[in-house]
Amino acid sequence: MIVLSVFPGLAYVLLSWLHGIHLKAVIWYFAVLAVSFYGYLIHRQYRTQQLSSAQLKVWYKNLSLFYYVFCLLWLVIFLLFISEDEYDLHYIAIFTEIGASVVASVLLVPDKRLFKPTVIVLMLPLAVYFFFMGGWVGYVLSVFACIFTWVLIYAAESSHKLLIQTNFQANHDFLTGLKNRYYFIGYLQTLMVTLQRSQKCSYLLLIDLDHFKTINDSLGHDVGDHLLQEVSSRIDKQKDEGGLLARLGGDEFVVVGREYENKSECRIKAVAKAKNILTSLKESYNVDLHSLYISASIGVSLIDGKNNDANRLIKEADIAMYEAKAKGRDGIIVFDDAMQKRVEHNLEIEQLLHFALDNDELTLNYQPQLDSGGNIVGAETLARWDNNKLGSVSPDKFIPIAEQTGSIIKIGYFIMETAFRTLSEWEKQGIDVQQFSINVSMRQFFYYNFIDDVFTLCNKYLSEETRKKVVFEVTESIIAEDVDKVVRIMERIKSLGIRFSMDDFGTGYSSLSYMKRLPIDEIKIDRSFVSELNEESTDQVMVRSILYMAKHFNLKVVAEGVETQEQFDILRNDNCDLYQGYHFSRPLVFDDFVAFYKNNR
Ligand code: C2E
Ligand code: CA
Ligand code: CA
Repeated sequence: MIVLSVFPGLAYVLLSWLHGIHLKAVIWYFAVLAVSFYGYLIHRQYRTQQLSSAQLKVWYKNLSLFYYVFCLLWLVIFLLFISEDEYDLHYIAIFTEIGASVVASVLLVPDKRLFKPTVIVLMLPLAVYFFFMGGWVGYVLSVFACIFTWVLIYAAESSHKLLIQTNFQANHDFLTGLKNRYYFIGYLQTLMVTLQRSQKCSYLLLIDLDHFKTINDSLGHDVGDHLLQEVSSRIDKQKDEGGLLARLGGDEFVVVGREYENKSECRIKAVAKAKNILTSLKESYNVDLHSLYISASIGVSLIDGKNNDANRLIKEADIAMYEAKAKGRDGIIVFDDAMQKRVEHNLEIEQLLHFALDNDELTLNYQPQLDSGGNIVGAETLARWDNNKLGSVSPDKFIPIAEQTGSIIKIGYFIMETAFRTLSEWEKQGIDVQQFSINVSMRQFFYYNFIDDVFTLCNKYLSEETRKKVVFEVTESIIAEDVDKVVRIMERIKSLGIRFSMDDFGTGYSSLSYMKRLPIDEIKIDRSFVSELNEESTDQVMVRSILYMAKHFNLKVVAEGVETQEQFDILRNDNCDLYQGYHFSRPLVFDDFVAFYKNNR
């Protein structure tokens, strides 16, 4: 608009000079320049500054003022030219007015309050001008001017409607009519600037439904969709006045609260709000003749002046939400400093783990497994990571991270290769174990090349006979996957002679039905049961029934975490097959294992 005025404006000055009215025209032109400069400043302010919501309102007022004044300036040149006797100037004036109206009706389309008055203010004087011109031509032109005004406004309104509609679609979620992720990010960014200025605080709740996928899969997407609509309307009723509810996608919603004076108040309000939402979500739903029940996990993060990255804030709420899921779902967790530290620590682990293999920082330990006579008959390989900066990191810590980041594929391959090499080396040194267990993580197990890797490494390091000693330990979480697929993979690997063991038995999904379906050979009673074992504990009943069941299914049983003679005696009494634990030996490095074995014999 400025460009459309500043350069053509010069032509008007020239014309005025030719007709001896240049003084007025020059003053007019300076006004155009001044207003243009003002317009440029407004434009720049938006481009270079982050504005809070209050500032945005003021900014928009200034912008509207700029448009009104700017259009009025073109009315001024019209009035100036028609006040002259020269008809040439009148023609220019008429065309100018029409041109300015068209420009206004096109450029100011986003706001009715802008384009309607401007077009009318620009066109009405023209109609009046024609009217006073007199004669039939004058009256006809006057009517034409009115019709033209109407056409311009009608066209602008249609475009306006379309624009609003497109804008609505870009900012809203189709299914629930709530604001979408795109809108939410922008909203959050502005909110953070506002809070930075006001030094106030607000909160963000990330709500994720528990097991929504199951409903979707079992009852169909229609039911899932209706449920989501009902869920969104329930949350909507709970949210703060002046707050925001948006759907991020799938079964994930966010709620942003209103502004609070201080952080502790905000935190209390956030948790209370989350509780209310959770309670209302847990009331039963009637969807298409199904009576449904669903819970949610909610992550809370607090937004204050210090935080200015929307994505980071969402990430924090996400971490808190996953923590709530990990703690058994149906709960609320607030992201706090401790969590922040943990996240940073995990990030450091993640980065350093990346180089662990190249830097030779990973090694294996071997923990002996004994029979009831106290003879070493097996071993379990356990990974160890020693890092310059972090010291020795427990596999309980780095294995899950490796799983998340995918580096478990390379690490798992390394572990398998090292373990196979150890096994063949032991054979050369006369160490004869019946079984040799290697932990296989879930992601590694489902890796597309896993079977090939196992075949390749077997062929490289192990004879046909030696392979039969290898046992892969998998955890019960494997059951959560497609069982047929699990069985297919296991069968392929079993064709090599390798056996499978169910690790940490009793802690997860343990169910008899999958025990029948999976071709496993052994179970390992989780050490949490073993550690509780004494004469009068109930876990003795638990362990006894596991043993009984295992015998029924023809499975070998290893008890892990045996720490005392008493535990050993109880297990032995119940005919457990193998024993592993600190009572016999801690996990040992290669040489120590060899020495321990020879000593045992
Ligand atoms: P897990 O497979 O259940 O391994 C047994 C864990 O119990 C080992 O911890 C072992 O050191 C410990 N342990 C053995 N006997 C006793 C005892 O008498 N008392 C107590 N309190 N603990 C005992 P570690 O080595 O820290 O490994 C932790 C977990 O990390 C393992 O649990 C396994 O899930 C995972 N892990 C370790 N190495 C590997 C590996 O090479 N690959 C994969 N995928 N996971 C591994
Ligand atoms: Ca294990
Ligand atoms: Ca275990």
